[in-house]
Amino acid sequence: MANPPSRCFLLLVDGLRPDVAEARLAAGELPHLDAMLRTGGRTSAITGFPSTTSVAYLPFLTGCTPGRCNVPSIRWLDRRAYAGRWWRDRQAVRSYCGYQAPRLDQDIAHDVRTIFELVPESLGIFTPVARGLTPARDPSRRERQFWGGLAHYAQWHQPSDDAVARRLLGAVDGPARFVFAQFPAVDGYTHQTDPDAEPVRRALRKVDGVVGRLRARLAARGELARSLILLVSDHGAAAVHTHLDLADWFRAQGVATLSHPVIWERKPRAAVMVAGNGSAMVYARPDHPRDARWPVERLRLPEAFGTEMDIVAALLREPSVGLVAAESAEGGVWVGSGAESARLRRTGGGISYEPLAGDPLGCGGPRQGTPREWLEATWDSTWPDAAYHLLDQFRADRTGDLLVVAREGYDFRRRFEVPEHRAGHGSLTRSHMQTPVWSSEPIPAEPVRTTDLFPAMLDWLGKPVPPGLDGEAIWCPGEHRRGRRETEPS
Ligand SMILES: [Zn+2]
Repeated sequence: MANPPSRCFLLLVDGLRPDVAEARLAAGELPHLDAMLRTGGRTSAITGFPSTTSVAYLPFLTGCTPGRCNVPSIRWLDRRAYAGRWWRDRQAVRSYCGYQAPRLDQDIAHDVRTIFELVPESLGIFTPVARGLTPARDPSRRERQFWGGLAHYAQWHQPSDDAVARRLLGAVDGPARFVFAQFPAVDGYTHQTDPDAEPVRRALRKVDGVVGRLRARLAARGELARSLILLVSDHGAAAVHTHLDLADWFRAQGVATLSHPVIWERKPRAAVMVAGNGSAMVYARPDHPRDARWPVERLRLPEAFGTEMDIVAALLREPSVGLVAAESAEGGVWVGSGAESARLRRTGGGISYEPLAGDPLGCGGPRQGTPREWLEATWDSTWPDAAYHLLDQFRADRTGDLLVVAREGYDFRRRFEVPEHRAGHGSLTRSHMQTPVWSSEPIPAEPVRTTDLFPAMLDWLGKPVPPGLDGEAIWCPGEHRRGRRETEPS
């Protein structure tokens, strides 16, 4: 008799910080997750950049970075197509935060495969990425819109998580082998309070209860041992004490600026597309279609934005701005922080960091290494894995000319955003980029990128891993039970 098929449950607790989760675990508030971890394991992961819902789901669901997926942010402008016409060009400006959300699936690069395409026996619950899911396998699409809208205005997020829990537990008795479930409440409560507030803790305790019921149901079916359960998050969060509306900042410099929600401006000299709200992409002269980005050398000329100054230097003087990055005419990506600057380049299979003035990424001097070496050396630094993610942003055609990254404590949306965000994410800071990986199977303690979980899940499900992924097959869950595979060198 053939072995019964393995199953995988990917539970994404949106916006959960690893330190918040660890503290609740240590306090004994998460008994079911504690029981799971006693025979499983946990490690730290660095999410995709920008550290924002939906974009940061792509690594889990495609094994590829946002840059590789050509979805560099939750808002972007098609530099080749946009020509400044209000009605005809509105489709060349994207925001997944509103009615364009369903376009995310078509926007993902066509040679990238979602796990839903590779594992037809999949179910997605509250997922903003649904390519490959039939309507029957995406049962909560309408619920997500309903509860999401209600939560946004009523600031009442637990009903969304409760709806997800019902679908998840129902899926145990169905045929799905891969189940992705998103729990939005932690992120919702974080935004309106802070990342470790009591409503966040309460939502996490409820997720723990759901994991307990999930494990009990699987055990009753005799399926617990062949079910991989992963509890992950797409980003962290941090309190915001100062809002700097970056679009208004450009306007204050005399630059006519296009930005959401009013995506039309007469003869704009800049377009500002904010993500999450700790980072933004800026497009110079967005109404003049062009194929290539402008290099930093050109962007620094006063005429680039029609001002009398170097706008990059002015941005770097702002206390809210942690990093500014752009392509360089000399190759690679230029990155500045305050008065410091450096150049990042791809070199064969590696990444090189060459300081020009000071040490903007805090690497202690020039550095050269493989992406894995960069991750291991910098995952717990001020700007974790930043060299990798800054270069990744500029892989995408749709990325703006300038990337502006906020310092911790600041964001780039207006003060009177409704509901006001008291905490946020989207930046490259440690509090935004570090996420937990809690697994029902043992996992090495080394840090991973969230892309690395994709080949691990396919391996568990016995599915071939497609070539060309950003995620690396560094972990084969359950390998200790199956014995080492023949293809692996001894
Ligand atoms: Zn999120």
